[in-house]
Amino acid sequence: MGDMSDLGHTVQTTIPTKEEVLRTYYGYSAFREGQEELIDCLLSGQDVCGIMPTGAGKSVCYQVPALLMPGITLVISPLISLMKDQVGALNQMGVHAAWLNSSLSFAQYKKALEYAREGRYKIIYVAPERLLTEGFLDFARNASISMVAVDEAHCISQWGQDFRPSYLRIPEFLSRLSRRPVVGAFTATATKEVRNDIVSLLGLLNPHVTVTGFDRKNLYFEVRHDRDKYQGIRSYLSAHPGRSGIVYCATRKTVEEVCDRLNEDGFCATRYHAGLSDEERRKNQEAFTYDEVPVMVATNAFGMGIDKSNVRFVLHYNMPKNMESYYQEAGRAGRDGAAADCILFYSGQDVITNQFFIERDRENEELTGEALELVRQRDRERLKKMTFYCHTTDCLRDYMLRYFGEYGAGFCGNCGSCKTNFETVDITQTASDLIGCVLTSGMRYGIHAILDTLRGSRNEKVLRFGLDQNRYYGSQSHQIIVFLRQVCQYLILTDYLAVTDDRFPILKVKEKGLSFYSQDGDFRPVLTMKAARKTTQSPVKAGEAAGHSQTGAKTHKTGFACAGGSPFEALRSLRTQIARREHIPPYLVFSDKTLESMCVLLPQNKEEMLAVHGVGELKYQKYGEPFLALCRKLAGESEEY
Ligand code: ADP
Ligand code: ZN
Repeated sequence: MGDMSDLGHTVQTTIPTKEEVLRTYYGYSAFREGQEELIDCLLSGQDVCGIMPTGAGKSVCYQVPALLMPGITLVISPLISLMKDQVGALNQMGVHAAWLNSSLSFAQYKKALEYAREGRYKIIYVAPERLLTEGFLDFARNASISMVAVDEAHCISQWGQDFRPSYLRIPEFLSRLSRRPVVGAFTATATKEVRNDIVSLLGLLNPHVTVTGFDRKNLYFEVRHDRDKYQGIRSYLSAHPGRSGIVYCATRKTVEEVCDRLNEDGFCATRYHAGLSDEERRKNQEAFTYDEVPVMVATNAFGMGIDKSNVRFVLHYNMPKNMESYYQEAGRAGRDGAAADCILFYSGQDVITNQFFIERDRENEELTGEALELVRQRDRERLKKMTFYCHTTDCLRDYMLRYFGEYGAGFCGNCGSCKTNFETVDITQTASDLIGCVLTSGMRYGIHAILDTLRGSRNEKVLRFGLDQNRYYGSQSHQIIVFLRQVCQYLILTDYLAVTDDRFPILKVKEKGLSFYSQDGDFRPVLTMKAARKTTQSPVKAGEAAGHSQTGAKTHKTGFACAGGSPFEALRSLRTQIARREHIPPYLVFSDKTLESMCVLLPQNKEEMLAVHGVGELKYQKYGEPFLALCRKLAGESEEY
């Protein structure tokens, strides 16, 4: 039930602003996309529905207003592990919080409710099943509850995978309170059906709905087609010693095999799947969370409610059954915002296995006949899209964002496709034809129409608009579409062309493009671009890793044998020492991103330390001194060079 010690007896003379709360408690200097508007609405008493991808920072959206409002905020959350983590983090920051769920004994539960009645907690996490129980209801009706935040709100919808019937009773709970608090619903599930269900079934009143981008820029995406997947995984791990990450496998059996082999090969890895005893699962998860074992090999049973922010990679040993699952699992990487890798090791066999599961699936016994066939058809379609992802040479991020109904930029520069083996190519002629085509067709068309024209396509649109009469029609028919798209992106990035931000974006020629185009053949400057070849080279150079493998238990015990290495390692080992002493996971001390930022800034005094991302006043009071001392030392060392 969280920390019951009495920390915050400070007398507030003025009410802090939301920026001050973010700064003081969290140590963050700015809100992320979507957070501010959701917070403002909640503070003004308007219900909200926030749809943000995993890792975007949903909890800040209700925790910050909770700290600014009088009274108590209830957070309804379906997962015990998630509650524990959140409450742990809040208590770390100096906020009094508690959780109420079935993991408490009756005596503990009674005690917690008693404290809650005394007003000791500002934020209370509660499982949905508890809401209408007599004891809780009695407390809630007599308490001053300012806000109810519904986490993982998609659980209310039968369209989602995680339907929880007890969520349907939330409106009843709200109606039993003496005064209806403002309600905020939060989820990472983007589909329209689920969104509509949340708003209507929860009974949100005139809610402000915010959907933020699903793009997670810090994640690097790649698909690999290694013939020997195990070697692929192995060489990745060798190249990234000591980094924490997850290897997802499709079946329990594969988990066992991969985990055993890794351990035999001297890596420090643990496992997780539904076939293990509760005890072993708990133990293994904890070892991973506390950074005692860096690598977790698991089925998709591992992850719901994992809030470990410094997961640096998620490798898929098998292809998941659809993009939703992939995005959710891969999304567990890099929640702290620092760079992380999401690499899928593909093989044709994965498609067959998944097909088999689809045809055999009898999980939902209520489905028969036509309905069953419909579900299967939908699943086959989803599998097809997932398989396409593994084969596309286009930007992977773009593909993913489009799948979720967003428009990407076509080129992200941080995925396997965008980073594929670049070579310098002369694009003078292609660029000039492209610009020419845009100009001579009156700057009225979008990228697709222009590229179709250059390639000499006979599609309906080209013919309808008479683009087959354009003098550049078919002039680039020898080029593949991917290349033309790259040239186009390049010309946009380098200011030769521009796209309007209309609903149907139109290509325009900019001044630079015009002057390039209007110079005669021989005088035209040669234009080159780095373009992707078709073969993907693995970014991992196995040689780099020589002698650096995570030698399992050995590294594990000696701990920081190589801590003398980089400043980051030094900071990390200090963090681990403190975490061990306090019996909390290291990322609750400071996130990886905070350490990275500390490495760059190497603060020399308190003020500079407070400028580090993730260091707030309260965290500073707890951990600032030792980190400051270490930073001073590190700065001294680097000056000697
Ligand atoms: P979600 O619940 O949306 O998956 P979390 O609320 O767990 O995401 O936030 C993910 C991480 O991002 C956490 O470590 C959180 O502290 C951090 N975070 C949230 N908001 C900000 C912000 N404005 N600036 C920097 N980091 C943030
Ligand atoms: Zn890309």
